[in-house]
This record gives sequence, structure tokens and C-alpha cells, in this order.
Amino acid sequence: MKITVFGIGYVGLVQAAVLAEVGHDVVCVDIDSNKVENLRQGIVPIYEPGLEPLVRQNHEAGRLNFTTDAASAVLHGEVHFIAVGTPPDEDGSADLQYVLGVAETIARHMDGHCILVDKSTVPVGTADKVRERVAAVLALRGRGDLGFDVVSNPEFLKEGSAVADCMRPDRIVIGTDNRDSEEVMRELYAPFNRNHEKVIVMDVRSAELTKYAANCMLATKISFMNEMANLAEELGADIEMVRQGIGSDPRIGYHFIYAGAGYGGSCFPKDIEALIRTADSIDFDAKLLKAVKARNERQKNVLFRKIDRHFAGDLAGKTFALWGLSFKPNTNDMREAPSRVLMEALWQVGARVQAYDPEAMDEAQRLYGNRDDLILCGTKEAALKGAEALVIVTEWRAFKAPDFDFIKQQLRQPVIFDGRNLFEPRRMAHKGIVYCSIGR
Ligand code: NAD
Repeated sequence: MKITVFGIGYVGLVQAAVLAEVGHDVVCVDIDSNKVENLRQGIVPIYEPGLEPLVRQNHEAGRLNFTTDAASAVLHGEVHFIAVGTPPDEDGSADLQYVLGVAETIARHMDGHCILVDKSTVPVGTADKVRERVAAVLALRGRGDLGFDVVSNPEFLKEGSAVADCMRPDRIVIGTDNRDSEEVMRELYAPFNRNHEKVIVMDVRSAELTKYAANCMLATKISFMNEMANLAEELGADIEMVRQGIGSDPRIGYHFIYAGAGYGGSCFPKDIEALIRTADSIDFDAKLLKAVKARNERQKNVLFRKIDRHFAGDLAGKTFALWGLSFKPNTNDMREAPSRVLMEALWQVGARVQAYDPEAMDEAQRLYGNRDDLILCGTKEAALKGAEALVIVTEWRAFKAPDFDFIKQQLRQPVIFDGRNLFEPRRMAHKGIVYCSIGR
């Protein structure tokens, strides 16, 4: 099938590469000419396990191409994926300018029937707006005769396992009332739907809400566990024991019930906020979502509060080793990362940071490269040297079994602040390490 993908970000690039891998003929369009040029040379701008070879091989095989020329790309595709960003507007609602801009571009250049697929996370009602925008441009062109449809097909990939998630999706949600569009979408996804039925077809508005409901449910689980962790700390309980105790109930399950330093990333914070705004716009008070958001904002400061308390507010001039900059493991993405909240709080009081992350060093350099109170270190060991204490913010696998004797040797004080509960408190005490983790 001939497919065009608008937006070569985490979602667009991974989806495009995976569709090309199963044999579709995919053209990707982006307004960022640097990105397009790099991709043509096999340079992948983001870190995702397995993505680079997939992009390179499919590009070499001629099934995956990159361009800034939207006109030719529109003429290529029978299905157009819209996978551009939907960042928060000033008031927190989803900014649809990029989505509607792409809709307009498609309408300006299309020359036959096509299907526009909303892959971006967009508020309920967006497909109607896309439809109106396309119809208006076609009318201006005097091409009201050209048929088109708008389908909602939200993306559920997880950064860090995006390729695997797209290759073997849990579910494929298709929002449409049109039988012909449904058939086209089923055919497109057939290679990913061979062993058991994963396609869930529903009306467009339900599909749009499904994406927000999924992210808000996951964020709720995290904020709930963080609330329990804070309670556990006050009550002398251990949240890790509590987690195991409740996870064994199949109605609750073990997934996504880890207490920590708060959720970040490009999706949860913005999607919660956007759904709150959608609710506000119809005078619906989304009490639970507001609480989830408030709990998370407070939790992102939990490590700083613990550090500040431990050093009795005397942080100016001290240096802290920080392990983990990305908002979660296996990605270089630092958008809304708890590490940023912590570093900025430490800098605010005159402390310095020596940081290491397995994949996010370039991103950290891009964001904070000009600061002299941040030293980016080439290894996790180098980050320890002469630091007052170690702070672990992201649970990368390489941090899970460190050499504690070496850590003690390198630090000025044998103190670890662990935002991800990687170690056993009793074992840390045995090793002579002051260990401050979450909820125990
Ligand atoms: P991103 O910021 O990584 O990429 C967006 C890309 O779109 C950029 O390369 C940008 O240059 C490009 N772009 C902007 N305007 C354009 C235009 N007019 N034509 C062509 N390209 C254009 O974004 P992302 O993380 O891939 O997210 C995209 C959407 O998918 C968002 O709505 C997001 O909420 C949603 N989503 C993201 C994830 C995730 O884990 N990142 C998961 C599921 C859904």
C-alpha cells in the first residue's frame, strides 16, 4: 500500500519504519530539513532499540523515503498518517495548529480519493475539525468532487520499546463509521494482526477519547502509588512490600504500580492537562485528573526535598552525582523529565551536578550545555568522583547492580538518594550506606 507519514518524530518515524518493514511503500514528510537530510544518510535522530537498522535497511530497499516536499508526498499516498506534535497551548489544551496545517497541505495537493489518519493524540472532535478544514480547502480549489475520509487511529507505543510495540501491538484502535475506510485500515494493519484479533473498530470520538483515557489511567496508577508511598513513609511501612502485596491481586496486577520520582515524558503530563481542559470546556470538573496531576507535580520534587532535609538546607557549593537524565530508561527523551526538575532545584540553591545517562548525554548537552554548574560525565563512575552523594533518577538497567564499595570510595559521604527504589534498604545499611529511597 502507498502510505505518506507527516511528522518524523518518535511516533511517525517508528510507525513508518515498521510499515515499510512489512512491505508498504512509505514516504515520510517533515518540515525539519536537517532531520530529513540526516535520515537519508541513515542517521536516526532519536534513540529507540532496533530503530536504526530498521530505518537503514528499509531506506536502502527503497520502501522508506524521506522528503520535505509535501506536494509530491501527498500525490504518493492513498493513506496519509498525521503524526505531528500536539504540544500544550498556553492554557494547557492541545495545540492543533500542526495537525490542521497538515490537513490543509493534504487538501491543497491531493488529486484523488484519500484517507487522512489522525495518529497524533488529539482531543475529541478533532477529526471533525480536520474534515472541515480539508473540505474548505477543496472547495476553494473548486475540487469538492475529490472524496476523502478522516479516521482516528491513536498510537499506544511506549518510548524505549517503540519498535517492538509497533511490530507486536496489544491493540489497534480504528475510529471510523465508514466501512470502506475500515477495510483499508484493516488491510494496512493485516501483517500485525495475524495470530489473534487486535483490531478494535469504534466510532471516531470514542477512539479519540480512548488514547487520553489510556494515558490518564496509567498516570493515575503512578500518582496513586506515589500517594501510598508518601503515606507509607509517614506510617513506617515499606511501599515495596505494599506493591507486592497488592500486585498479586489479578484485578490490580503488577504493571505500572511503582512508586518513584514522578512521571515525565512528552505524553502523560500534556495529555492529562489536555483532558482536564477538554472537561473544563464543557463545564465538567475532572476532580480525579486534577488530583493525579497535583500529586505528580509534588512528587517530582521529592528527591530535592529529601536531599535538602538530609543536608539541613546547606546545599550551596555542594556537588551531586546524578545517574539518569532521560524521563525513563531506553530513551534519550528528556521532555518533562524528573531529572530536570531536580537539577534546576539544585542549581537554584547553588549546588552543582555531575551527571551521566547511557543515551541522553547529547540531549542534556543541547538543553544545558552552557551551564558551568553541570558537568556531563562519560561514565557513571566518573560522575561519582568527589561528589557529596549519589542521586538515582532513572532506572536504567546499568544502574541496578553497581559496585557499592567503589561508590563509597568516590563519594564524600556514603549517601544514596534513590528515586526508583532499586536497592534493598537492609543491604544498603549493611554496606554502611545511608540510603534514602521512596516510600520506605
Ligand atoms: P515529535 O515532536 O517527536 O515529532 C513531531 C514531528 O512533526 C517533528 O519532527 C516536526 O518537525 C514534525 N512536523 C511539525 N509540523 C509538521 C508539518 N506541517 N509537516 C510535517 N512534519 C511536521 O512528536 P512525537 O513524540 O512523535 O508525537 C507526535 C504525536 O503522537 C503527539 O500528538 C503525541 O502526543 C503522540 N504520541 C506520542 C507518543 C510518544 O511516546 N512520543 C506515543 C503515542 C502518541
